This record gives sequence, structure tokens and C-alpha cells, in this order.
Amino acid sequence: MNSWKEDIIKALNQIGGEGHYNDIYSAVEDIRGINNLPKSWKAIVRGSIETYSSDSEKYDKKNDLFYSVDGIGKGIWGLNSYQSDKVNVDLTEDDIEFPEGKKKLRQHILRETNPKLIRLAKQNFIAKYSKLYCEICGFDFNEKYGEIGNNFIEGHHIKAVSELKLNEKTKVSDIVMVCSNCHRMLHRKRPWISKNDLKKLIQKV
Ligand SMILES: [Zn+2]
Ligand SMILES: [Zn+2]
Repeated sequence: MNSWKEDIIKALNQIGGEGHYNDIYSAVEDIRGINNLPKSWKAIVRGSIETYSSDSEKYDKKNDLFYSVDGIGKGIWGLNSYQSDKVNVDLTEDDIEFPEGKKKLRQHILRETNPKLIRLAKQNFIAKYSKLYCEICGFDFNEKYGEIGNNFIEGHHIKAVSELKLNEKTKVSDIVMVCSNCHRMLHRKRPWISKNDLKKLIQKV
């Protein structure tokens, strides 16, 4: 039988990378089988999550596997290594234009779909500007689309994959907030564009 840690990772992968304790419990229950659960298994699940989360005081300071969504008390947890389905989606014709090539594009998108990283980047941006908007063209999804656009923005990683050392951690400061249109254009741009040059992308008419 897998360790609790492994089963919780599996559970979070199954429920889309994030979920409330109740969602995690039911996924773990499916994975382990209802007859294989000790009496206090839910406490074990909670304990394991906190042991492997740097957001918790119980963190073992070694394996940072889980993150707390909206603060510990909320009981919602996410998996740091979760890879969104987006990465498996077939690339479109335009993606062939990606300056670093197709394989690197996958790595790039992987970085940009790290939910914890994007959440932090969004939080920092909101703390600074009190709303989300595209750093290139100023587009504000909430302003344009109303409620469904609320809190929507994409994160673009400004460092080229080839610039990053192996296992180099992605920094929140390397993520810029962009609308979907500008994001696509950025991915087509050669050579790779720096943060300061972002706005120059827009053609002056
Ligand atoms: Zn834009
Ligand atoms: Zn990007």
C-alpha cells in the first residue's frame, strides 16, 4: 500500500490540484478503499498535509508538497506539483512560432500553470494596484466582462526556459500579468522579450 503522502498527492491530482478537506477525504477513500481505513484516518490525512506544507507550523522543513488556499483555517489545500491539463492540450499552429521551440513551450506553460505561483503573483499585483489588468495593454477582464471576468488574468513567465538553470525555482517576480491576447503575442515574439520592453510591443498608431 502507498504511503498517506502518496495517496494524498494522487487524490489532489484527481480532484484538479486543489480541494477542500471533504473532497480530499472522498478521493483518498476511493484510492484506499473504504475497508482499508483506520479509525482516525481523516486526522492522519490532515496531519500528513500539514507535515508536508511550508504554510503550516507542523511543516517538516523538507518536503514542501502542499499549499494552503486562502489560509490554514479554510481547510482548502493544493498540490504544488500539480500540472494542469492545459499542458497536455495540443498546441496550436501559432505555437510553432514559439521562439524557443515546441518542447520548451511545454516547459514554459508548465511554469505558468503552477497554481501557487500564479496565485501569489496575482495577490501581489492586487495588493499593489488593487485590481488585475494586463501589464502590456491595460486590459481589465472584470471591467470588460463583469462578474465572470473577476479575478481573471494570465501569468506570463518572462525568463526564457533556456535561461533558467536546471531545477531553478520559478520566482513570483518573474511572472507578469497579461491578457490572453497579449500572452499569445508574447509567445510568438523573437527574441524573448524583457519586462521593460513589454509595453513597446504595442504598435503606436
Ligand atoms: Zn493585453
Ligand atoms: Zn507565457
